[in-house]
Amino acid sequence: MTTNNSKARQSTNVDPVLSINPVFVRPGEATEFSKFVMPDEPSLPETAYQIVHDEAMLDGNSRLNLATFVTTWMDDEAKKLYAEAADKNMIDKDEYPATAAIEDRCWRMLADVWHVPDPNDTVGTSTIGSSEACMLGGLALKRLWQEKRKAEGKSTEKPNLIMSAAVQVVWEKFCNYWDIEPRYVPITKDHMYFDGYNLEDYVDENTIGVVVILGQTFTGAYEPVKEIAKKLDEIQASTGLDVKIHVDGASGAMIAPFCQPELEWDFKIDRVNSISTSGHKYGLVYPGVGWVIWRNTAVLPESMIFHVSYLGGDMPTLALNFSRPGAQVLLQYYQFLRLGREGYRAIQQNSLDVAQYLSAGIAEIGPFELVTKGDTIPVFAWILKEGATKNWSLYDLADRLRMKGWLVPAYPMADDLSDMVLQRIVVKVGMSRDLATALLSDIKGEVEFLEALETPLPREASSGSHFHH
Ligand SMILES: *Cc1c(COP(=O)(O)O)cnc(C)c1O
Repeated sequence: MTTNNSKARQSTNVDPVLSINPVFVRPGEATEFSKFVMPDEPSLPETAYQIVHDEAMLDGNSRLNLATFVTTWMDDEAKKLYAEAADKNMIDKDEYPATAAIEDRCWRMLADVWHVPDPNDTVGTSTIGSSEACMLGGLALKRLWQEKRKAEGKSTEKPNLIMSAAVQVVWEKFCNYWDIEPRYVPITKDHMYFDGYNLEDYVDENTIGVVVILGQTFTGAYEPVKEIAKKLDEIQASTGLDVKIHVDGASGAMIAPFCQPELEWDFKIDRVNSISTSGHKYGLVYPGVGWVIWRNTAVLPESMIFHVSYLGGDMPTLALNFSRPGAQVLLQYYQFLRLGREGYRAIQQNSLDVAQYLSAGIAEIGPFELVTKGDTIPVFAWILKEGATKNWSLYDLADRLRMKGWLVPAYPMADDLSDMVLQRIVVKVGMSRDLATALLSDIKGEVEFLEALETPLPREASSGSHFHH
């Protein structure tokens, strides 16, 4: 029998090696590539695919990534739509008029959700993410200030922007790239987030605006837009300076309208000139899409608008990028239609519930003290109680959890409180109560392990570097 079989194999003329595993052992094909020099020769698509695919397996599992705010799960219809639309370039408005029209509908829906006073007199756009959206919001504030100063015959040399010391890094970049003096309001134990306290010490005639963050990246806290606006009203009454607000609602602008409808933070407050958000955070779309909307056309300087051809006519655009994916905009529209307000409410509320279930569980473990509990955006942070542990820190706990696959970063608080070490969890759709229970049990187990240590673990210099802020 054996003899017959080997004869039959020979007769088909197929190399037995190829029929076993054509990708890895195909004769003469390289399966090892130089990392930094482009290969001279092409390789077969299956080989290149397999190599890239396999190397990407070494990334953390995105579903266990509790460090990122960015969407890591979409349903199968969304995935199908994504694959179908992967070739669309958002800037080709003339060639893809349907995608352009859908972009327009999306930001108009958001403008409505955020209570613009007049839906016929507002302007907005999609962006690659909140970073670009914040830059555009900030630039508009700068231009408005410049125009006003020029009209008054005053200097435009020294613009400044007021924000919390705990801003997301995009605002530091914005000030750096556009030569604006950042005025950071420090974070203290009494003022763990920017709340308008002492704001009068920061505002002057060169202030282009105030950034208020709805969903601070360090802790998830909401900076109170209404109180800060009220403080600015008082400042205007005493100094005559009329300072406007950009709300950086990267996370919160897609949570508050659905889960905290009584909170006043959006265009209902007169001082809010513009609002930005990340479609790819709690907008529930894969990376990268963001949105920015202005209260009315008067607060978006005409000089920032460029004109592209659209259906033979004229289409105003404003963006830092030229080409960028159109698929994400279609995915955003898919989510708006698929979920509606009630769907967004239910999903975000579930994330809030899971976040609060986790924060309550973590508070019970003993050495931890909650800084926030996950009742603003579904994000919360904790610190170690003073003197609660001998031989370990939150960095050690982060490392131990990483060994189990969980990415739960530990990081220092913003300047002025950088001695304080926080650990944070971002709950998103896809983090079920089941997974949360498994995480709690792993945290308990690792705390027991760390508590039993006789001496501290060796620390690597890079620890804490995987914080997203
Ligand atoms: C994430 C975030 C940003 C940056 O957003 P991207 O969409 O990642 O560009 C800006 N501000 C805040 C408050 C954020 O949370």
